[in-house]
Amino acid sequence: MTNPQHHEIVVIGAGIAGATIANELLRRDQSVCIVDAASSPASACSSHAYAIAHPHIGRGSPRLLRLTRIAFLLAEARWGKQWHQHGIFQPTKKDKVFDREELVNHLRTLELDESIAIPLDAREAKAICGIEQSGVWLPRGASLSLFQATNDLLQNHERLTCLWNTHISRLASHAEGWLLFDDAGHPIISAGKVIIAAAMEAKSLMMSIDIRLPLKPVRGQLSIFSIAKNDPWVEHIPRVGISGDGYCLPAEQLADGSHRWIVGSSFDEGEDDLRARDSSDSFNREQAQGLIDYTQGNVTSLKVDHSFVGVRCVAGDRLPIIGALTQRPGIFLATALGSRGVLWSALAAKLITAQVLADDFTLLARLGFAADLLAALAPARFFAGALAAPSAFGALASNSKPILPSDPKAK
Ligand SMILES: Cc1cc2nc3c(=O)[nH]c(=O)nc-3n(C[C@H](O)[C@H](O)[C@H](O)COP(=O)(O)OP(=O)(O)OC[C@H]3O[C@@H](n4cnc5c(N)ncnc54)[C@H](O)[C@@H]3O)c2cc1C
Repeated sequence: MTNPQHHEIVVIGAGIAGATIANELLRRDQSVCIVDAASSPASACSSHAYAIAHPHIGRGSPRLLRLTRIAFLLAEARWGKQWHQHGIFQPTKKDKVFDREELVNHLRTLELDESIAIPLDAREAKAICGIEQSGVWLPRGASLSLFQATNDLLQNHERLTCLWNTHISRLASHAEGWLLFDDAGHPIISAGKVIIAAAMEAKSLMMSIDIRLPLKPVRGQLSIFSIAKNDPWVEHIPRVGISGDGYCLPAEQLADGSHRWIVGSSFDEGEDDLRARDSSDSFNREQAQGLIDYTQGNVTSLKVDHSFVGVRCVAGDRLPIIGALTQRPGIFLATALGSRGVLWSALAAKLITAQVLADDFTLLARLGFAADLLAALAPARFFAGALAAPSAFGALASNSKPILPSDPKAK
């Protein structure tokens, strides 16, 4: 048996998470080996071509709101030139009354200025977005092909080694760090640092080193609808993206006069079946009616051209798991990106690179990233007593020069 090949930094998983982290490490002059079970990048959930990105502005947990703002700014800095910045409109929830002053105050507390989020009443929304509903207009909201972005990030590079068709079945620690084993039980790679960006499979890889992660699959189906040239829907379909109960991209007119409209997506908890379902398309037709408030629209006019089905990986508390696994030095996790692959991979790239290189939290701190946010993302949050243990934050401090400020508003 040949000796395992050694790489100081190995990333397992060449989806958007692994690719963005690998690319950030290359930018920081590191050599990186990325390993994937598939024969090319973005073969799984990141084969998604229509992912939207915007800061979360709802009434979610304050940490989630702060995190999505920071992650959106990082994603915009990374992909702003290649994503489709059509703007995203977020309608007022049906059970809520539009209150401009309250919204302005809320957005101010989130540090979202008018270049990012603007409350609009129904008349203003009609004029700006073509949608006669009140809500918040996110002019910098955009969509990105995760497939294209992942492939772009993994272009040939002299310091990048890509190992395709290589499934890692387990990990084990050894003198110089970690050994990665193939399905036949052979140690094929040794590594100083291992970044696990393998979505749901992070769970079994972690089990191999006695770490339990509360991950579950959530199947989702997106419908790509075709609408005939003179159909009444054409008067109602939006020219911007909408994010509410479900989401849609701007409808696009094709050369033959018909429209293509992408609407999603189902949220099937605990399921991982990748076959397209008629029932999911029916669900998306109803979402389409709700998103543009066109309940009288005949849903049979929305003909399914094709569908995208993917399996999201979601953690018990719905936040991504990003950071050093302090219980197993040299292991880093970037998983549970849920429905925010664009945002969380941009954040994971900066955070994990800072931890791997034990430096440069400056940019993150400048954007408002503080120790409580690090703790909210850290794998350690799932282990009883881990967050209270001095070692968890001791490791953070020793991994981060300068130590993150405790004031979340630090500029
Ligand atoms: C219907 C739907 C709609 C969505 N909409 C949006 C959206 O609008 N905006 C947004 O930002 N996100 C959206 N998402 C989420 C987004 O697609 C995911 O968050 C993202 O693609 C996850 O990327 P990842 O790199 O973590 O995982 P993946 O893309 O699944 O990549 C994991 C990789 O790891 C490899 N791998 C796994 N195990 C091993 C192993 N043991 N050895 C070697 N390789 C391994 C796999 O082959 C795979 O290539 C949506 C998802 C779905 C399903």
